[in-house]
Amino acid sequence: MKKAFFYLKSIQPFIFTIILILIILVVNGGCSSESEENSVDILLDRAITEPELREHIQTLASDEFEGRMPFTEGEKKTIQYLENAFNTIGLEPGNGDSYFQAVPLVEIEATPTGIMTVEGNGNSVELNYREDFVALTRRVTDRIEVGNSELVFCGFGIVAPEYDWNDYEGVDMAGKTAVVLVNDPGFGTSDSAFFKGNTMTYYGRWTYKYEEAARQGAEGVIIIHNTAPAGYAWNVVQSSWTGKALYLKSEDGNQSRCAFEGWVSQQSARQLMEMADIENYLGQARKPGFQPISMGLSVNLTMDVTYKEATSQNVIAKRTGHERPDEYIIYSAHWDHIGVGKPIEGDSIYNGALDNASGTAVMLEIADAFSQLAEAPERTVIFLAVTAEEQGLLGSAYYAENPIYPVNKTVANINMDGIHFRGPMKDLTIVGYGQSELDDYAEVVAKEQDRYVMPDPNAEKGYFFRSDHFSFAKVGIPALYASGEYEQAEQGVEWTQAKMDEWTQRDYHQPSDEYEEGEWNLAGMVQDAQLLFKIGYQISNEETFPQWKPGSEFKAAREQSLASPQSTVDSP
Ligand SMILES: [Zn+2]
Repeated sequence: MKKAFFYLKSIQPFIFTIILILIILVVNGGCSSESEENSVDILLDRAITEPELREHIQTLASDEFEGRMPFTEGEKKTIQYLENAFNTIGLEPGNGDSYFQAVPLVEIEATPTGIMTVEGNGNSVELNYREDFVALTRRVTDRIEVGNSELVFCGFGIVAPEYDWNDYEGVDMAGKTAVVLVNDPGFGTSDSAFFKGNTMTYYGRWTYKYEEAARQGAEGVIIIHNTAPAGYAWNVVQSSWTGKALYLKSEDGNQSRCAFEGWVSQQSARQLMEMADIENYLGQARKPGFQPISMGLSVNLTMDVTYKEATSQNVIAKRTGHERPDEYIIYSAHWDHIGVGKPIEGDSIYNGALDNASGTAVMLEIADAFSQLAEAPERTVIFLAVTAEEQGLLGSAYYAENPIYPVNKTVANINMDGIHFRGPMKDLTIVGYGQSELDDYAEVVAKEQDRYVMPDPNAEKGYFFRSDHFSFAKVGIPALYASGEYEQAEQGVEWTQAKMDEWTQRDYHQPSDEYEEGEWNLAGMVQDAQLLFKIGYQISNEETFPQWKPGSEFKAAREQSLASPQSTVDSP
């Protein structure tokens, strides 16, 4: 016993040595990734700073930049500034040896020459422009004449494979005009499993309905207005769908779009449904298995059209990956705003400081951080400042339909539009929460910042379809649109929400969206920029492709694109 004890005692130092070595090994193993993490944090603290953000925002939102409207001096100054910034940061040009991608646009003004007549079933009705209907065309032409185009009630105008839903089932729309309902069948049913209940899906957007009708080969498409599911009243339809509008210009001069895209007031729609002898049209359209109904009516409409072609620019830069340079992460932010307009309290420059000098500045700071990384990430990281977001996501739509980098090799999009200035936030609000696995990446990084992730509280308003990430989503690229905007770290939820509401009421798309020294606390912007950097950085060093979650309306497009040997998705 004693001897044995002695023996044990004598090997004790050896055991201690071995344990010590093990401890050192374990600690060291932990240390190397920790030190990498530390070095990224140190880099972020150096690369993403309040003074730099302030400088970018103050410049982009200055009166000198005239509200950054496409085709103006403001555009010239803005894209020069961005090219300069990318160059100074040390990023490569993103389009061959150029930092620019030309975006061909056309400004079209279509004016109905008078009434729209609808005839049939021994009846006829005259609808008055603006009062009862509005109509536009995207076709680059001098005149639109629609004569005796048969009206077909096509429910919600939706073809959604994931819901096994086809409102155009069995109908040939050539020469005909589709009459469709606003929003999607789920709205107002309080059944969250029917489409997405009150959360608007992509299929609820008017943009989708116009595109689908064109894919069906319809001559015209008319949306039936209804204030609750639309989210706005008829007067908004009147002002938004009359006058000049800016569109992308395809090679065929948009001839593949419907000859006319219109809306009718609910009252006029009721009149038409009565003439067509269709009862309870909303109820019928909501029923699974709905079949399109020929209304026995035809429509006549003539429009005078004037148009002007012009080119604006996306600005693009990159850091080439060292391991898989042919796989891409795209950060995006729209550089444009709405320019000079009606003076409000003597100020006619709509500076767009929050919308979207803030997002552009945050993107430049993220770009700066990627540029300063000692070693390039494994995948290539792209920074894309897009034009004409305010005119309908046109710059990003053009990029998505004419991608410089293959869509099916583009791993993710991270979009920034309106990053708030109220200091550090406790939340990270994800617009379109639940759509893709990018949420899970966001969750991890948010936790590191002691923040919680939450879904957009206004999901019924369809914000997921209202900024540039949507253009990427449409072609199947998983896209994230997230920032802190719910709970200011010290002031709490109520204060924050009151401030946000006040801003929306007073400053949204107004000349008062300006940078205010003293009022703007950029600490939260730094926080968001670091967070969005880390998400992209993580993905840029992985081999996996984040997926759309089951039930996402973009999953099918992605699967199709990944399965296709082609480098781009055919635009519809
Ligand atoms: Zn915006």
